[in-house]
Amino acid sequence: MRVIFATSEAVPYAKTGGLGDVCGTLPSYLKKLGIDVSVILPMYKGISGEKFMDLELGTEKAKVMIFKDREAYFIENSEFFHRDGLYGTPEGDYPDNCERFVFFSKSVVEFLKSNNFDIIHCHDWQTALIPLYVKKYNLNCKTVFTIHNLGYQGRFPKEKFSILGLEWDYFTPEGIEFYGDINLLKAGIIYSDTITTVSPTYAKEIQTPEFGFGLEGVLKKYSYKLYGILNGIDYNIWDPGNDSFLYKPYDNFTDKQINKLELTSECLLDSKRPLIGMVSRIAGQKGFDLLVKVLDDIIALNYNFILLGFGEEHYSIKLKKFAESYPGRISVNLKFDETLAHRIYAGSDFFLMPSRYEPCGLGQMISLKYGTIPIVYKTGGLADTVIQFNPQNFSGNGFVFDVYSAESLVEVLKFAYVIYCQTEIFKMLSENCMKYDFSWNRSAAEYKNIYEKLIRNP
Ligand code: ADP
Repeated sequence: MRVIFATSEAVPYAKTGGLGDVCGTLPSYLKKLGIDVSVILPMYKGISGEKFMDLELGTEKAKVMIFKDREAYFIENSEFFHRDGLYGTPEGDYPDNCERFVFFSKSVVEFLKSNNFDIIHCHDWQTALIPLYVKKYNLNCKTVFTIHNLGYQGRFPKEKFSILGLEWDYFTPEGIEFYGDINLLKAGIIYSDTITTVSPTYAKEIQTPEFGFGLEGVLKKYSYKLYGILNGIDYNIWDPGNDSFLYKPYDNFTDKQINKLELTSECLLDSKRPLIGMVSRIAGQKGFDLLVKVLDDIIALNYNFILLGFGEEHYSIKLKKFAESYPGRISVNLKFDETLAHRIYAGSDFFLMPSRYEPCGLGQMISLKYGTIPIVYKTGGLADTVIQFNPQNFSGNGFVFDVYSAESLVEVLKFAYVIYCQTEIFKMLSENCMKYDFSWNRSAAEYKNIYEKLIRNP
């Protein structure tokens, strides 16, 4: 079986968040199950490869070059893709994102015409038009569309419709129109053979007005082909016992403390207090509205706090101010930094994810492996992976608040502090967390089932 992932991110080539992790690591687990998987993505600045072929972009008579590096193909277009960011700058999205990713999707479809694949597996709005084009041009391959985050839909003004190269019949409420605009994500939902999203709870949530971002009706209509499959993490990358980014690799609580000492010294924090870490895109979705409300409480409760994040400027400014107000207690690092990310997962006592919604979330699964106790809001994939710790019977693996408010987050922080102070219990909890297995093996088998079902039912 030959499968190709079409995506705007895949490690090690490009990553802004979980999409890059998933598209970069799931293929190798599918390969272990005997599936021939490759990936196709834009050729961003800094990527290199061997020239593979030229493509004629049918209707536009434009030439596109395809490059290849190992199992990855790249669509070259320097005007669109040789930029510093993938989607924009801290000030906002690039104004031509519609043009950029429609171009990418059209090029992938041309590529499919001359290269045979059984399945094209598309990810998020950037590639959501591909299932539509595959149906329109009657290509001989099945389409799977995965929603990693419904909050990003590729919504553009109607005036851009001609770029898509489609008849106006597609621009209806049953098609890709959305309140007078174009909605690219809708194309993936409607025209794909199977839709998946990245956790079972999120698959249910997106069919409700609270989480559906206006697409709940469409998702309900197509729910017969919608599945929730939990993301996994790649323990080749995320293994504290074998992690070259760490000050000292470890597999027990005692050695973990060395990483805390080093991290706090590197980031000028005092090491005696419990440390809450956060590694996150700085975006409204991730609960930064709650965070800025509770940071004074975090300090009053005797915690220290370290953040690594990159994103929305208005939160970044506020967070920097907090760091200035609490020297030695709060460290704010506004950048994308793989090394520091690993060190925070390892050196913190707690890992905070107060996301307002969270399709799956990788941070909580990574932190568990590093024996760092997650503190999360009960939503989406966080609800599927973090269970409230109960010291009576030692069940659970973290701390969970189920009302999205500063008050309930503070209550949970108070309880977590009580547990932290009982050193033996906290140590056992931390070492128990290290044993959880969220590897890709199970989820990869679920994707394989989906592919096989599609191929069996022509
Ligand atoms: P999302 O995809 O919504 O951003 P996930 O929890 O699914 O969130 O994945 C986030 C991934 O990105 C994790 O691997 C996390 O460690 C990483 N990450 C987020 N921000 C940064 C950053 N500033 N520096 C390094 N890694 C980051």
